[in-house]
Order: sequence, then C-alpha cells, then structure tokens
Amino acid sequence: MNIKQLILPSLALCVGGLCVLPSMEEAQAWSLLGTKLNQNQRDFRIFNNFTDSSANNNNVPDSQFPGHQGVVMAIWKGAVEWGSRAHGDGSGDPTQGTLGSGGANFDAHFQGLATVVGDGNDKIQSEIGGSSGGVLAYTEGNGGQGWRIRYYRSWSWEDGPGAPGGGIDIQGVACHEYGHALGLGHTSASGATMRPSISGTGSGQRSINSDDIAGIQANYGAADPLKPIISSVNVVGSTIQINGSGFDAIENQIWFTPSFAQASGGTPVKVTGLTSNGTFLSATIPTGAGPGDILVRRDGIGNMALSNAMPIDLIGPPPCSTPTNYCTFLPNSAGPGATISSFNSPSLSDNNFNLTAGSLPPNKVGLFFYGPNQANNAFGDGRLCIGGSITRLPAQVSDLFGLVDLTVDFNSSPFNAGNGQAVVNGTMNFQFWYRDPGFGSAGFNTTDGLSVTFCP
Ligand SMILES: [Zn+2]
Repeated sequence: MNIKQLILPSLALCVGGLCVLPSMEEAQAWSLLGTKLNQNQRDFRIFNNFTDSSANNNNVPDSQFPGHQGVVMAIWKGAVEWGSRAHGDGSGDPTQGTLGSGGANFDAHFQGLATVVGDGNDKIQSEIGGSSGGVLAYTEGNGGQGWRIRYYRSWSWEDGPGAPGGGIDIQGVACHEYGHALGLGHTSASGATMRPSISGTGSGQRSINSDDIAGIQANYGAADPLKPIISSVNVVGSTIQINGSGFDAIENQIWFTPSFAQASGGTPVKVTGLTSNGTFLSATIPTGAGPGDILVRRDGIGNMALSNAMPIDLIGPPPCSTPTNYCTFLPNSAGPGATISSFNSPSLSDNNFNLTAGSLPPNKVGLFFYGPNQANNAFGDGRLCIGGSITRLPAQVSDLFGLVDLTVDFNSSPFNAGNGQAVVNGTMNFQFWYRDPGFGSAGFNTTDGLSVTFCP
C-alpha cells in the first residue's frame, strides 16, 4: 500500500479569516488540482467517530437517504450534491431545491460505514482530534489514487438537516471537502461551495453553484448522452428492477451499498454480466446488499460508464442477537460457581465467535458442549442445562485464573454438518462441563447455560 500522503495547505477549509490562505486573484474562478477519480475510486465511507452529540442527533429517517442518520446522512448528502442528476427525487435537504446538481460524468457511490480511520487513500471521512488554527477540515490526497477527509474535533459539529444553530454544518463542509477529493481546488467565485473559507455555519456550502458545476464538468466532462441513467427502482420480492436508459445490451453491473461496515474495502457489492434492452434491468438482490445507493455500470464507454446514484431501502440482514444466559450454576472449589459467556457475535460469516467459562477451579480438565434444547436437571455437582442431541467440543484445561476460552470455527466439524450444525437463525445452547475432584460427591460440575442464535 502506498502510504505517501500529501496535504496541501490550500485544501484546508477555514472559517472566517482565521486561516492564512494563498493569495488568489479575484478574477479567477474554479480551479483544478490535476487529479481525477476513476470509477473504482468514487466510493466514499464514513467512520463515525464524531464526539459532539449535535453531530449525531438527527434521528429522523429520510427515504432519500435510507438506513442512516446523523453525521452519516449529512456527509452522504454533501457528496451526492456533486452527482450528475437529482439524487432520488432530489429532496432531502430543506435548505436547497434539489440535491444532485453536478451534471458531469461523475457520480459518487456511498459505501456505508467504515470501522477504521483508514489511510490517506482509503476514501473514508472521519473526525480527527485536536485543531489547526482556523482550519475546519482537510482533504488528503495521493495523486488521484484516493483521498481521506478529516474534520477537526475542536469545532462544534452539527448534522442538520435544517440550517445549524451555533455549530459548524457538517453537510456544507463535507460538500466542500468532497469537491477537493474529486479534483477541484479553490475558487474566488461568489457563493461557490469551493470558496476557501466559510462565513457563519457553512450551511451555504451545501449547494454547489454555477462556478462549482463548471469546475466538475471541466474535470470530467458534461454528462454524456451515453451515460446510463437510473430513473426508478423497484424491489419485488428478492428481485431488483431498474428502469432507465443507456444500459448495455450484454454487459451491465449493478453496484449496491453493503449492509455491513468494512475495515478495508469500499468495494461495492456487485451483480455483473446483466443483459438489458437498454431501458430495463433486473437481478436477484445479492447477499450483503443493504440500504444505500445503487448505480449501474455499463461496459465499454470509459469515464461516462457509471450511472447516477439512486437511493434504495434494502433491508440488510438482522443484527445478531446477544447470547443469553439461562439455567443455573452451583458452587465449586473455587467459589460460588462457574459461568459461561461469549464475545464477538455469533455471525456465521464473521466466524470469530468465542466461548468463555470463568470462575472455574484452576488447572482442571473440562469441555464445552451444546445442543438444540434447554433443560435444567441434576448433573454431578451441577446442573445439566442442555437437552436433545448433545455435541461435545475438544477438552481444555482451565488456566491459573480459572478461565478457558474457545473460538469456534463454523466452517468445520461439528458446526458445518450433522446434529451440531450451526445455521442462520438456528439456536444452540452451550454449557461447560469440568472436573472438580474432592469438592462435591460427583467430582464434576457445570456452568450455567448460554443460548445462542446464529446470524448471517
Ligand atoms: Zn478547501
């Protein structure tokens, strides 16, 4: 990975006159940085590490920005303002008529949440601690290979959707910074989003003006008649149906926003190889597609091959439910009794679910076991909390602190077939059995039970 980063002072957005800026002739309007984002670099993600409560207090769903609120929705709006045409029905921002005004061969694709800040090419937006004079936010770039946007924590950030009160408007600043990411420098044009400083809250930067539009069209070309257009989308059962124009006869792709947050990536969930009559596309909605935007990419026409972004509220997989304890534990030689717990979610695709048992006698052999039913019967010096066909996991020895843990592998025996198979939405009940000689009459004991429902 190329980690060389370039932070141009001129890419900082400043408030009022607090920031020392390069001199700029008044006659100069839009400017270009000399970089363009290719189609695989137009994704953007948000790592929501913003600390101001006012940055995440918009909890009102918006059909044009489905599945996300707060700072995520605000940044999403800031990016789609540069889109080639109205984003969805164009509504979603009470301070301007239409969101999506760029009219160029350029559309960004929202790729949901990131789980990390990422590096200078990862196309992730996040907050950064500290301050830098009057600088609100800045865009890092690496010669068009990618970018990253940081918002200084020292400012009070507000997520809208109305014009903010006393703080700084995330959406307006996001719109300005994303202008840098796609290759625009600063302008002196009155009322432009790409002016180097804001006055007031910055909400005036939400709506790009004619100078900004001239800039993005200079960098990417005005939207070509061949550029595919999505005009409407329907979901029928598990199928997505897209109406529009400019689709290829034999080779189209549909790009979806993932339903899950990603650390690395930003790669859309795709369906490829789709044929079309030019105005209609349909496909089975792929696993992993979630609420967000869809775009169509058609083959063979270069820079203009990616469509506008159209919002769609696909239902992502339900979140994993938290395992719950049940049944009971009884005293052992180490104290009041041993308990079972877990960490990481019981997601079959994440495949990092971890079982633990604690308050065991140290240095004693035991094992996790599980089954489909629950019970609560006398068993040695403890209780048997599992019913039905029982599956045993490998024996383990408790450590000096009376702990054991086991990361299970859902892709291997006994979880991948037979009585012990873990399936989506299936429930299994887990318990730990252990030797404890010389304490009770039986010489073995058990933890309480843990009920686990598996998710995708
Ligand atoms: Zn700037």
